[in-house]
Amino acid sequence: MHRLFFHWTPHHRKLKGIVQALHLSHHTDPRNPDKILIRPTYSLPISALVLGGFYAVTGSLFSASALLWGVWLGFLYYEWVHYRLHLSTAARGSLKYQRGWHFFHHFVDQENCFGVTSPLWDLVFGTYRRINF
Ligand SMILES: [Zn+2]
Ligand SMILES: [Zn+2]
Repeated sequence: MHRLFFHWTPHHRKLKGIVQALHLSHHTDPRNPDKILIRPTYSLPISALVLGGFYAVTGSLFSASALLWGVWLGFLYYEWVHYRLHLSTAARGSLKYQRGWHFFHHFVDQENCFGVTSPLWDLVFGTYRRINF
């Protein structure tokens, strides 16, 4: 999603504004806390779409809601790690490696190292780059 949607440059002016607000503004101002976390004006409609998709697949509002809670928990972890990468000075443990990959994406090569919490999908999609920590 980071690679295909957040770095997408659509020709449609409104779509371009949405992508800009969701992610590219974070690239131009990476230490601004207001641009690190997703805003409810975007997360709530996206959550409604995801809930609808889960409901279409499961046919159960209970199952769809449970799956959405799982997505939210994973996304909260992602947001917490992303926030810490930019605004914390801690440089030990997993944060050291996550920051190395994420700052490589921010400040060296925006076409690689899209993973924030893990390099797993970069390894799968060939966008992983070895970083010297
Ligand atoms: Zn990015
Ligand atoms: Zn970032």
